[in-house]
Amino acid sequence: MVNLAVVCPVMTGARDVAIVGAGLLGLAAARVLTARGRDVVVLEQAHIGHAGAGSKGSCRIFRLGYPDPGYVAAARRAGELWRDLEAESGRQLRWPTPQLTFGPGVGDVQRALQAAGAPGELLPAAAVAARFPAVRVGGPALLEPESAVLAADLTLEVVAARAGEIRTGVRVLGLADDGRQVTLHTAAGPLTARTAIVTAGPWSRGLFAPLGVSVPTTPTLEQVGYLTPIATGQGSGPGGTPIFICHDDQAPYGLPVPGSPLYKIGIHTSGRGTDPDAQDQSPDRELLGRLSRVAARLLPGYDPEPTATERCVYDNTPDEDFIVDRIGNVVIGCGTSGHGFKFGPLLGEWLADLATGATHLPDPRLRGRFAVGRFASRA
Ligand SMILES: Cc1cc2nc3c(=O)[nH]c(=O)nc-3n(C[C@H](O)[C@H](O)[C@H](O)COP(=O)(O)OP(=O)(O)OC[C@H]3O[C@@H](n4cnc5c(N)ncnc54)[C@H](O)[C@@H]3O)c2cc1C
Repeated sequence: MVNLAVVCPVMTGARDVAIVGAGLLGLAAARVLTARGRDVVVLEQAHIGHAGAGSKGSCRIFRLGYPDPGYVAAARRAGELWRDLEAESGRQLRWPTPQLTFGPGVGDVQRALQAAGAPGELLPAAAVAARFPAVRVGGPALLEPESAVLAADLTLEVVAARAGEIRTGVRVLGLADDGRQVTLHTAAGPLTARTAIVTAGPWSRGLFAPLGVSVPTTPTLEQVGYLTPIATGQGSGPGGTPIFICHDDQAPYGLPVPGSPLYKIGIHTSGRGTDPDAQDQSPDRELLGRLSRVAARLLPGYDPEPTATERCVYDNTPDEDFIVDRIGNVVIGCGTSGHGFKFGPLLGEWLADLATGATHLPDPRLRGRFAVGRFASRA
């Protein structure tokens, strides 16, 4: 079917905001702008939550614990927005779940939580073993009481329901900003908007290169595994197993899957580089072996061989800080480096603010830090 609005943009005139990409960031920005009465259209090359998108999958970790007070404060604000989203939609998106944070980097996380006035209790090894036998920490751990498991698929559905017009199967091939408005070129014809927001994950880099804007992100194809409890009623399973993050040089993490006995594990930034348009979604045997070894070491209540695996793309910046900025009439939100989901509603607000005239992010600690130009100034 021919989409007249795309073929004949003159019929509709310029939109207020056109958003490229219906991952969590694009949808969250669209939801905020729609609530503010803006005329918004989201263009998505595939469909929401498709196999190649970074936002797909069952669940994500929400945590306050970062080794940096600026991120802790941002996560607290995001937590308030998650609660608002749940209240507004009437759907449970967060499953409050205690988190154990351990490993050599835990002191930095504890200090940042304290500096930001956020809760976190350092438990000695014996207390960890007694209270959380499902994770074999073997040492002290920071208990993060405000962590939660986020229902990722359901979040996309809930946010998309109030995100204005979403056109799927429409790939933006290029952008042109003439200083007055932005033209987005698609196979079906051009579309114009006063402002564009590019939240195209690892595809963002390619859209900015012809505009002379360097976005030095590199995609990696990660792999997570789903573990099955060996037996129920022995402290294993979602009821008894906390979230964990180990801050060592491997950085393994795990979380219970909401509404399921399965436990999801991963190793942060362990995947190889990939072309986002040619992702090989088949299981990686070497990564599978690493996941099994993490499970055997840390999770005694689970079969260490994952019953299922899933590939998912990270959109990495060199410093793992996000890119949230505005260049002319084009706003950019990408480079979430495998930790952007928890900030989704907050990033949506920031992107919407930038699209409607704000010149910088509200938190002074994070301003220059998320600028796209920070990499050029370091070179
Ligand atoms: C395995 C894994 C585990 C993770 N765990 C956590 C976690 O526990 N906690 C956490 O906070 N975060 C986590 N993350 C990170 C989080 O999921 C991502 O940061 C976030 O979902 C990225 O969202 P996005 O909207 O930027 O990108 P995406 O979801 O990738 O969305 C980009 C969209 O843009 C579309 N697009 C691209 N180019 C075009 C174009 N030219 N035209 C039209 N559409 C286009 C794409 O099709 C895609 O749908 C994890 C990520 C992975 C992969």
